[in-house]
Amino acid sequence: MIVVLRPNLPPEEIDKVVAEVAKLGYEPRTIRGEVQTVIACIGDEQTHRPLETLVAWPQVETVLRVQKRYKLVSKEARKEPTVVTVNGQKIGAGQPFCLMAGPCSVESEEQLMTTARAVKAQGATILRGGAFKPRTSPYEFQGLGEAGLKMLAAARAEFGLAIITEVLAEKDVDLVASYADVLQIGARNAQNFALITAAAKTGKPILLKRGLSMRIEEWLLAAEYVLSNGNPNVLLCERGIRTFETYTRNTLDLAAVAILKQETHLPVIVDPSQGCGRADLVIEMCKAAAALNADGLLVEVHPNPAEAWSDGQQQVDFERFAQLSQSLKPFVAAVGRPA
Ligand code: PEP
Ligand code: MN
Repeated sequence: MIVVLRPNLPPEEIDKVVAEVAKLGYEPRTIRGEVQTVIACIGDEQTHRPLETLVAWPQVETVLRVQKRYKLVSKEARKEPTVVTVNGQKIGAGQPFCLMAGPCSVESEEQLMTTARAVKAQGATILRGGAFKPRTSPYEFQGLGEAGLKMLAAARAEFGLAIITEVLAEKDVDLVASYADVLQIGARNAQNFALITAAAKTGKPILLKRGLSMRIEEWLLAAEYVLSNGNPNVLLCERGIRTFETYTRNTLDLAAVAILKQETHLPVIVDPSQGCGRADLVIEMCKAAAALNADGLLVEVHPNPAEAWSDGQQQVDFERFAQLSQSLKPFVAAVGRPA
């Protein structure tokens, strides 16, 4: 930490701050300038008390952090990429590009089975489908609950696809984990630390969506909750953030993908469906994600989007999904990923 003092402080005032820094467990090194003095505070910011609160002192102008607030998710903590294994399938840097696809909501056995067949035929290896849905309005379809989970399990048995589904509430964690291969933590719960911790403790891989107005640092700190609870298997999923733009439902932040690739060893997934809220943009966003070396996609696919019970405007039909899957190939090859 670096404590910047106010200009022209008398030496005895500087000494008071230096003494406090030492009391809090840091080794203070004072750098006296012409006008302003800076105290470099040597010590591990993760194990010592943070010094940020020193700004409450009248002598202190500002306190700057040197170390990152997250630890386990950072590349400093782990040099090799994390590879998350889902039913034998490896997801992460250097692994085959992972296609997760399926309807926004599980609506019926027929809807799910026909979708599972179609996405599998196009190379998807993980079937998505919400059984518990976080809806903005209480009057909208809330999901089939456990009946939906049973349909997902039936699709897994029939097609050999792994399944990913959202867990919405702490009380449902064990139930959802008893069916799912990957637990999805949704954007609206991305800072529900009690839920994230409970999900982490199941030991199942966690796909952690980015919150609607979440900074990358906050997102990484939410992932830190999973790792610090003993579960290393996190997939970070960029799904767009709220901005002033109205042409899209959310602004898919592709820069975040590139930044995460620099900051963390965790796999990065892109959800172009919530990301733009427009079926006509899904293929282009998927190509961009593959070109950015994202580790996979989470795409909403529906047999008849116009009749979907949720998010119809952004779900692609089977034909468009087939085009998507084919058009990804050169982009995946261009970043040197195995097919
Ligand atoms: C979804 O995947 O259907 C969903 C609700 O996602 P998000 O939490 O990103 O809005
Ligand atoms: Mn959706």
